[in-house]
Amino acid sequence: MKILLASLCLISLLVILPSVFSASSSSEDFDFFYFVQQWPGSYCDTQKKCCYPNSGKPAADFGIHGLWPNYKDGTYPSSCDDSKPFDSSTISDLLTSMKKSWPTLACPSGSGEAFWEHEWEKHGTCSESVIDQHEYFQTALNLKQKTNLLGALTKAGINPDGKSYSLESIRDSIKESIGFTPWVECNRDGSGNSQLYQVYLCVDRSGSGLIECPVFPHGKCGAEIEFPSF
Ligand code: 5GP
Ligand code: 5GP
Repeated sequence: MKILLASLCLISLLVILPSVFSASSSSEDFDFFYFVQQWPGSYCDTQKKCCYPNSGKPAADFGIHGLWPNYKDGTYPSSCDDSKPFDSSTISDLLTSMKKSWPTLACPSGSGEAFWEHEWEKHGTCSESVIDQHEYFQTALNLKQKTNLLGALTKAGINPDGKSYSLESIRDSIKESIGFTPWVECNRDGSGNSQLYQVYLCVDRSGSGLIECPVFPHGKCGAEIEFPSF
């Protein structure tokens, strides 16, 4: 009897445990999003150079890089569902705005679809439990509209003129205007100067609004960074 009970216990443990683990590490689970925008001047003036999209030189404005599901511990899920490939027909009503607000600068030149496809497959598929493909792109476009990063900076006298600005003044002006603390990522121009490359803002799990970041990415800019023209 004891042996029978023990083996029943063991069998039930073997059945239950895997489902408990797969539920807690489900790749669709996430805590918040990073909404990441890139300064095109800083993508283009590096040693690697850039290519303008087929539709021509984008506006001198921040462009969307991505909307990235993240965990509070700083790690993140990626490429969560290869059964849901990018399908541009689901966002045909958004394409005009996408070309304007989410332009691609990688070489060779393209329409942007390869960039959007990459972002959907790597990041978007990890938030499918909350928003579908159309909502994913719509959410990013809405956030771009709402945040107006360039406006926040220029209002504080910080212009894309190739001059240097303190990292603190950049952060403060964004916080002042948008209400939330941004994370600033730098890269290096062709001569090795540290410059304003990307700005991260955090968004709640439902994609409906900005929040203070539960955790910031790693990396460091100098105390003074360049804001190149585009
Ligand atoms: P890098 O290593 O150049 O900073 O990032 C390369 C890519 O990894 C990013 O474009 C993005 O797709 C992903 N990535 C980097 N850091 C993060 C992060 O903190 N959260 C998420 N969700 N993705 C990240
Ligand atoms: P992530 O760094 O988000 O994982 O990957 C970005 C991918 O999208 C890279 O393969 C990169 O070549 C491509 N890509 C296409 N256009 C752009 C762009 O304008 N900016 C960035 N950062 N990546 C782009």
